[in-house]
Amino acid sequence: MTLRRLNPPLHAFTRLISFAVLLLPVVQGGCVQTCQSAEVHLCQGHYQTEQDAEKQLEEFAKTYCNLHQWQARAKGIREGILRGAELDPLPEKCPLNPISVNKRSYDGYTVENVAFESLPGVFVTGSLYRPKDVKGPFAGVLCTHGHWGQSHADGYGRFRPDMQKRSATLARMGAIVFAYDMVGWGDWKNAGWQHKRSGVLKLQLYNSIRAVDFILSLKDVDPERIAVTGASGGGTQTFLLAAVDPRIAVSIPVVMVSAHFFGGCDCESGMPIHISSTHRTNNAEIAALAAPRPQLLISCGKDWTKNTPRVEFPYVRSVYRLYGTEALIENLHLPEEDHDYGFSKRDRAYRFLAKHLNLSLDKVTAPDGSIDESLVVIEQQQDLLVFGPDHPRPAHAVDPNTDRLPWQ
Ligand code: ZN
Repeated sequence: MTLRRLNPPLHAFTRLISFAVLLLPVVQGGCVQTCQSAEVHLCQGHYQTEQDAEKQLEEFAKTYCNLHQWQARAKGIREGILRGAELDPLPEKCPLNPISVNKRSYDGYTVENVAFESLPGVFVTGSLYRPKDVKGPFAGVLCTHGHWGQSHADGYGRFRPDMQKRSATLARMGAIVFAYDMVGWGDWKNAGWQHKRSGVLKLQLYNSIRAVDFILSLKDVDPERIAVTGASGGGTQTFLLAAVDPRIAVSIPVVMVSAHFFGGCDCESGMPIHISSTHRTNNAEIAALAAPRPQLLISCGKDWTKNTPRVEFPYVRSVYRLYGTEALIENLHLPEEDHDYGFSKRDRAYRFLAKHLNLSLDKVTAPDGSIDESLVVIEQQQDLLVFGPDHPRPAHAVDPNTDRLPWQ
């Protein structure tokens, strides 16, 4: 067993795990040889200080000085993320076999509870919002959620009122919107899935890739106008998906892109996506992998995005500058605000998505120019569930307590 620290951890959240040396038999020239893959490094939580993070970005910037060199670095990071998440190569894609139940109709939009199979018997569940009485083709928006309020009275995950407002308002603007559960949340929880499970980052990132497949499978969705946005843990899902999936045209990670904080949950940093024998990066640089596609970084003064205007945003913008697309990267920084996806953040996100996805902002704009979310109906949690007594899970659904995942 080997143990090596590339960067001394300074905080309690830091985890550095070194696994036993993997002995892999490799057939070369008719002989079986042994090659070894040494260490696995996890960068979790407050892995490094703010000062070390700034220095690290300076070091990263020295590794390229033109677009060609950056693209080579970006390719290595992208491969490192997928390899660290054990998604290289990606599994063979199974049929989505979509399920839709209980379609409701409101002012300017509809909502239905939907599921699809990301892996055989593994159902990704969510709420599908569609514009009403409008002709396509439509932009598609994936809405991810963070770790807020499992016990919150107003609901949690995709059931939270702010998540419903975001999704429905974007549908009223003319986008088809899929708001989906994290692993172990929402419908998953009712089926016995735990969020804290081995390889949750792998499954969650793969579910996001399959969510792109799903939204593209819907009638009249424009494949050139697919976006993703979410806050906190949903922000991590947002920038990871944009980094590895070129079908994402626009991304808005909210209160999460930080060079010194790597996400405290295993679904964000529990697999070695930041450091391997061939790559080393942090979440600010991963956000830069979205270049040259339009991206809005939303940050605030009361969490780990407090330095964004001075540290993370200039780094990401410098990458966009290499493409000549500096105008496509923006930062909204709200120094007095806290860690959420509140109205002021949604307001800017709507305007950014309207601009880059060609949505109808006028459908949600009051005469004074303000955004009006008042026509969104906040539904009860139980009404948003896909599966229940009236719609049982399919018989072949994987039981997380007794079955192995198809890729295990
Ligand atoms: Zn998580």
